[in-house]
Amino acid sequence: MAMASMMTRLRNFEASSRPVDPETARALKERWDAMPARSQVPGQLIGRKSAGCEATHGVFPKCNFSCKPCYHSADANKVRIDGPHTLTEIDRQMAYLRKRRGNGQFAQLIGGEVSLLEARDHGDAIAVMRSHGRMPMSFTHGDFDYEYLRAVMTDDNDKPRFPWVSFACHIDTTMVGRTGIKKPQSEAELNDYRARFCEMFDRLKDEYDISSYLAHNMTVTPENLDSIAEVIKASHGQGWRMFSFQPAAYIGNESRWSEGFRELTSDTVWNEVERGAGTTLSYGAMQFGDTRCNRVTWGAYVNDRYTQLLDDTDPRDHRAVDDFMTAFPGNFAHRKPLETVVRVARSLASHPRVVPSTLGLFGRFAQRSGGLVQDWRTLQPVTFVMHQFIDADDTAAGWEHIKAGTRATEPNILEAQERLEACAYSMGHPDTDELVPACVQHGVLDPHENLELAQLLPLPTRRACAAT
Ligand code: SF4
Repeated sequence: MAMASMMTRLRNFEASSRPVDPETARALKERWDAMPARSQVPGQLIGRKSAGCEATHGVFPKCNFSCKPCYHSADANKVRIDGPHTLTEIDRQMAYLRKRRGNGQFAQLIGGEVSLLEARDHGDAIAVMRSHGRMPMSFTHGDFDYEYLRAVMTDDNDKPRFPWVSFACHIDTTMVGRTGIKKPQSEAELNDYRARFCEMFDRLKDEYDISSYLAHNMTVTPENLDSIAEVIKASHGQGWRMFSFQPAAYIGNESRWSEGFRELTSDTVWNEVERGAGTTLSYGAMQFGDTRCNRVTWGAYVNDRYTQLLDDTDPRDHRAVDDFMTAFPGNFAHRKPLETVVRVARSLASHPRVVPSTLGLFGRFAQRSGGLVQDWRTLQPVTFVMHQFIDADDTAAGWEHIKAGTRATEPNILEAQERLEACAYSMGHPDTDELVPACVQHGVLDPHENLELAQLLPLPTRRACAAT
């Protein structure tokens, strides 16, 4: 009996310490096979390193800001924030995602406004997501104080609940409702608020040794397009690890739409991001899904100057990416240390070429950033991202084709279909056994889902409030 159990443990260890474990290998293959040919490129992360980002839905749709635009349906604010509902639903959705997508995927804890949850419920939601092998990121407008953050991150004995935490803060002039600056007139007026948000996490590190990864999210409209560069220049030193820009699209609450969103082409917005970074940002050597949805540049500030890690005009960088993804498929999150050590050793043994090609890559990065001899203590990794939602009408038509197994012929619908098939950002629907792109969630499913939720979780009536 003891021998049989030992053999089982050894077999399990052998499988989990492979360069890619069988569960992740299956999830990656499923993603790769479903990807349209135009996205099956050597630098594609989805299907090689990641099954894609994930997010919660229908858990706390309400928000206390009013943004223009807003991807939520008009009924979102008729749904009560309810901790038990949130936790039950997140548990169901994350269990489903774990089954479909394997271990160690990034998952966004998103509604609605996450800080409307009671602090304990917010912390419990993070814990539930982690228990399913997810790496959660709380999406917020950031209008809360340090006491709330501390209460999310600590237990009843004032001890840290988590060693690290990840938050994305949406902060820009499209938003109305921030304490102290209800209707900001310029992006510059918000820079102190950006800094204050980061400072809360510095304090969390000092007092509880909890590390953080902070993403700065900005919706881009024709009105604030010209401010992108200044936002980056003024706030890149505040502690953000990611700057993510979302050009406004015709999705979500129609009463919050304005004219001119279609003037915001990907190139127009990306040019402004490059102006802010002070350099060209290439996104062709490594990509996440379809580049019409996502442009991503990884890199770092060194001595206040930004340098991209990958130059997509250099074939050596393309080869280095390919070597890296071949040697290290999947990711290392939520693994036991011994498993990771053995896995890395097996990866290196199976693809030793990754060592010189990675060293070469970092050598070229060092040269581009100013040379090997410089003050490397100033290095601050920062990723620039642009995520462009698809308009709701095109999404609905493209989704119909995917469900029917047909191919669109109209160019804009075909584009939507291809982007949805390569989607990097999905929600789990255990009831229908479906993975749903966020565009479909917000553009097609949310209105009905929120109507149902409004009946299940109605807002308190005046009479009920008075009685409590
Ligand atoms: S959610 Fe929409 S825009 Fe984002 S990656 Fe998926 S299909 Fe593309």
